[in-house]
Amino acid sequence: MKRTRIFTAGVVLLCAVQAVTAQVRHEIHFPDLPDWRTLKCDLHTHTVFSDGVVWPTERIDEAWREGLDVIAITDHIEYQPHKQDLPTNHNRPHELAVGRARERDILLIRGAEITRDTPPGHYNAIFLSDVSSLEIEDFYAVFEEAQRQQAFVFWNHPGWQGSERGQWGEHQARLFENKQLHGIEICNGGSYYAYAYELALEKKLTLIGNSDIHDPSLETGRTRTPTEHRTLTLVFAKEKTIEAVREALFAGRTAVWHQNRLIGREPEMAAMFSACVRISPTHHRAGNRAWVKIENRCELDIELQRVGEVGPGRIKLPARATSLLRIDAPTEALSAGLSYRATNFLLGPDKPLSVMLAIPEQ
Ligand SMILES: [Zn+2]
Ligand SMILES: [Zn+2]
Repeated sequence: MKRTRIFTAGVVLLCAVQAVTAQVRHEIHFPDLPDWRTLKCDLHTHTVFSDGVVWPTERIDEAWREGLDVIAITDHIEYQPHKQDLPTNHNRPHELAVGRARERDILLIRGAEITRDTPPGHYNAIFLSDVSSLEIEDFYAVFEEAQRQQAFVFWNHPGWQGSERGQWGEHQARLFENKQLHGIEICNGGSYYAYAYELALEKKLTLIGNSDIHDPSLETGRTRTPTEHRTLTLVFAKEKTIEAVREALFAGRTAVWHQNRLIGREPEMAAMFSACVRISPTHHRAGNRAWVKIENRCELDIELQRVGEVGPGRIKLPARATSLLRIDAPTEALSAGLSYRATNFLLGPDKPLSVMLAIPEQ
């Protein structure tokens, strides 16, 4: 009897001293904008339910660990290489993962990849209520069904099989005309399609960038660098809800984080730059030299190229760090602000964002 009590006490003590291993999340630092929350989204991922090699719940755990807010599981409808091992059930990945998503505070969007030969190529339909009803032979009928379900549809990796086969053709034109095509991947994994970016701007298609991940993600906060990270879409939404993500996507309020650059449109890119870069007042001056501190609060190593007369020719502001800057100029010249181009905040292919670095009064 006494032995049992000692044993019980031992177990209790063991439980008390054993630390609970929390699943660590490494946040991705892109600040919110004055009017919008900045949600980090991957809208193109695969699982074992098509040609991926991970179980759906693992996609949620990865998203949590990597600091994502939103993912869509978008398994191929027409390409089911594991069907000998798993029955084709297009709604199953979402059903399996949605509970885990709630536990991890990840928004999970039900999606699918419409997978045809190129051309017409591959398309993701997201915010679907029933994926199975998109299993239709006729190409255009699939998009009619997606539209009936009020899906947001984007063209995937347009240059995947070469720029010639990835041209905007009759299929895309017809879908666009029928309001059945709303966005385009300008980046997919490591690839960037300048041509698709031009097209998106011309036709006002929403800019999308995704991982299209098939393998397990080995990324952690430690392996992530400004150039090596999961390609993502930043969605500027009213709040963190699936409905708000949908509204922002249809409104085109996105930017793409690809390698060491952000690709987007003027209003959000200008707001993001202002939110990322904090300049302190001059803290020391000696003759015509002034010292100021500039904080970069985001994941990019921000690259600046001088346009005006004042300031260093090139400035690099390392990610999530404060840089010390010496400016050789009289006080009057500083008060007007320093005119630069942020060469890795793009508003179009080869079109960097113009910025004014205003040094605040003491
Ligand atoms: Zn694809
Ligand atoms: Zn894919």
